[in-house]
Amino acid sequence: MRLKSVVLALAAVVGVSLALPSLAQPRTPAREITQVQGDLYRARNGNWYTVFLVTPAGIILGDPINETFAPWLKSELDTRFPGRPVKYVVYSHSHFDHAAGGAAFAETATFVAHENMLRNMDGRYPQMPGDMIDRNDNGVIDREEIDIPTNTRPGVCGMGPGFFDGIDRNSDGVATPRELQQFIVRPSVVYNDRMRIELGGKVVELVHPGLNHSNDATVMVFPAERAAFATEFIADALVAGNPRSLPSACGPFDGSPLDEWIKSYRTVEGLDFDVLITGHGSQMVDKTLIRETREFFEDLRSAVAAGMAAGQSLEQLKENVRLERYKDWANYERLRANNVEAAYRNLLTYR
Ligand SMILES: [Zn+2]
Repeated sequence: MRLKSVVLALAAVVGVSLALPSLAQPRTPAREITQVQGDLYRARNGNWYTVFLVTPAGIILGDPINETFAPWLKSELDTRFPGRPVKYVVYSHSHFDHAAGGAAFAETATFVAHENMLRNMDGRYPQMPGDMIDRNDNGVIDREEIDIPTNTRPGVCGMGPGFFDGIDRNSDGVATPRELQQFIVRPSVVYNDRMRIELGGKVVELVHPGLNHSNDATVMVFPAERAAFATEFIADALVAGNPRSLPSACGPFDGSPLDEWIKSYRTVEGLDFDVLITGHGSQMVDKTLIRETREFFEDLRSAVAAGMAAGQSLEQLKENVRLERYKDWANYERLRANNVEAAYRNLLTYR
């Protein structure tokens, strides 16, 4: 009896480790820390980026990114800035690929986010990236809810192989929201519209831009450094080199009305800074990129709306809406028709 339970326990351990191929042994992504301006730095984990501001009283950090990057970052910070622990972690949004790993800083940090992040972590199905939605409305993440967007738009709207098995941590065939968010520390301070953090004589302003790629976005503004940090709705995960890139247009448009996306860009354009640090992509950008991205959304919306008003079918729109001004942008050939279709479905849903 005793032996049997040991064997069962071993089987369970083996089963769990076999079910975690992508998380158990990740290839370590490229990691580095670069100075942006003064005491403001950008930190990199592959094509994911975060920021931190060093003050005499400690550090204000953006996203912890994930549970393997965050301990690496903590040890770098401890070495480079001894006696200046991370006092704040500010989430750019709640998605698991940016917000995980906060435990590394939990001893010293307060975790801050837009208030909608609490809703996304209350045990109900959260707002997710990449058209991963609760298709059968059962409140848990089923394998096909990951596989459908992964297989219909490979490399754009879903996850890599093994992702579902990685988040189904007890291998029972479904992933609960809590399993998905196992490594995300819940925010302890939330705000509604704007918030100001002062630490060691330095200031960070937090701004909720509206609904876009997520419904709980925060833009961090560093007034003295004339810089800001925002993820995803300005440069999404497809952006690697060229920041001028057609949006992934999953969802359609992640369940947020096009008007809200456009409002988000206008909000950021209205903030006082020069350099935007993005969550994806090697280059930092300026407001020109934000304006052009907003104009892309406006041009897409008006062209699709005009075609719909003229009675064109979705197939006709995908053929006719060329968005020529953007033909040199990254992913134009690959994603133009997807953007037209997403705009069409978005306008049908939210008009
Ligand atoms: Zn995201």
